[in-house]
Amino acid sequence: MEEYSKLIEGLNPCVDLFITETLCSVREVRAACEALSAVPRPLFIGVSVKDDGSNRLRSGEDLQAALDVAKNYGFIRGLLVNCSSPAAVGAALPLLKAAAMEIGRDAEETVRIGGYANLFKVSRRAGAPPPPAPAPTPAGAPGRPSSPPPPPPPQQTTDEWLGGEAPAVTTEDGDYSGDVMTPAGYAKHVASWIEAGATVVGACCGSTPAHIQACRAAITASA
Ligand SMILES: [Zn+2]
Repeated sequence: MEEYSKLIEGLNPCVDLFITETLCSVREVRAACEALSAVPRPLFIGVSVKDDGSNRLRSGEDLQAALDVAKNYGFIRGLLVNCSSPAAVGAALPLLKAAAMEIGRDAEETVRIGGYANLFKVSRRAGAPPPPAPAPTPAGAPGRPSSPPPPPPPQQTTDEWLGGEAPAVTTEDGDYSGDVMTPAGYAKHVASWIEAGATVVGACCGSTPAHIQACRAAITASA
């Protein structure tokens, strides 16, 4: 929190609002909010989530836990997901929306939601671990009590995550140029976010001015 306090102290005379980008854990969200409580100024919280649409922070904690912390701070005016896959941003929007409505109602202010994704092909990202190999199952091992298999993890489609509020966007190979999503491919995601209630959109790592232009076009088309 001391780190955040130092940054806020230095920036505060010069800014209208603060945006925290790429917060990866509940602890970081809490520290940023606590540090800003001393000022306070309008704050847009930006968190980074796992790319698989599971609505978990990079730390592995639930996005909802971070939002539950954020709800305690009435100066929050925006909830964003950044530097995550476009699909993960879309999957997070219903949670952001519910939390924003709660904060906005208590503070009697509008709390915006939105996001700006990174553009890299997730499956080829450097450092991504390979999927775990299935454990070998000894067939008919005598004298060993077999434990029941663990229940399968709950599966939810992107449609279910979005709660029917926006069409799921399927990313196809044609949406990529090499390992980077094209502006046209990205525009499809941005349009779905706007449809789901996003009013702050942009593009993060890997983006070019053409991606920002695609965001602008999606905003204009939605008006
Ligand atoms: Zn980024």
